[in-house]
Amino acid sequence: MKKWIFSIITFSLFSNECLSSILFKWDQVHHEEVSSFLGAPYLKVKSMSLEGFNGLSLQKLQSGFSFMEKVINSEEFRSRVINFKNKRGERKFESNRGLSNEEIYEIFMEGREVLQMDTPGEVNLFLKLYDNPMSRVIGYTNSKTNLININWKYFKHFKIHEVAANLTHEWTHKLGFGHTSAKEHDSVPYAIGYIVRDLVLNSMNHPGPIF
Ligand SMILES: [Zn+2]
Repeated sequence: MKKWIFSIITFSLFSNECLSSILFKWDQVHHEEVSSFLGAPYLKVKSMSLEGFNGLSLQKLQSGFSFMEKVINSEEFRSRVINFKNKRGERKFESNRGLSNEEIYEIFMEGREVLQMDTPGEVNLFLKLYDNPMSRVIGYTNSKTNLININWKYFKHFKIHEVAANLTHEWTHKLGFGHTSAKEHDSVPYAIGYIVRDLVLNSMNHPGPIF
């Protein structure tokens, strides 16, 4: 079954403090055919460029990649995204661009970043670690670049499940999803980030092929 999605999206989002703070403006005509998957899609997490990571921070990051890849390809992840309910009990995400949970899952698993549409099946991560101890920003990016900036002040305290959650949150911004504020916990970046956080934690506590 095929669905046509046509949407004209103009939005401006601002948040000054979030799991990943962004100043995000996006104007885009989005017209594409979204096909239902016939088989299980597989999404590979790829580090495209890393800056500022070394030693233990690099090890922690790479563990985050591994667990992220493991959980986003699980049936449990698919189920959690498709069955997600917001705080009003509706089966939909906030700031969802008019898309259903199923469509959001398909877009996520297609792995086509807004600025890099020709790499399906890949989570392409361009990451830079910076140190700003005075800032309350955990990380940031914007719609004009693939680069995701991560603040060492917070990253150094992150556990692996928090690294995976943060990367997932930021990467959904690369897919064109945003949030109106750092409190919009039912938005795609936050809600899917929380799903990944929980599944990674579960996976770490129950090592082995549990999914
Ligand atoms: Zn964000």
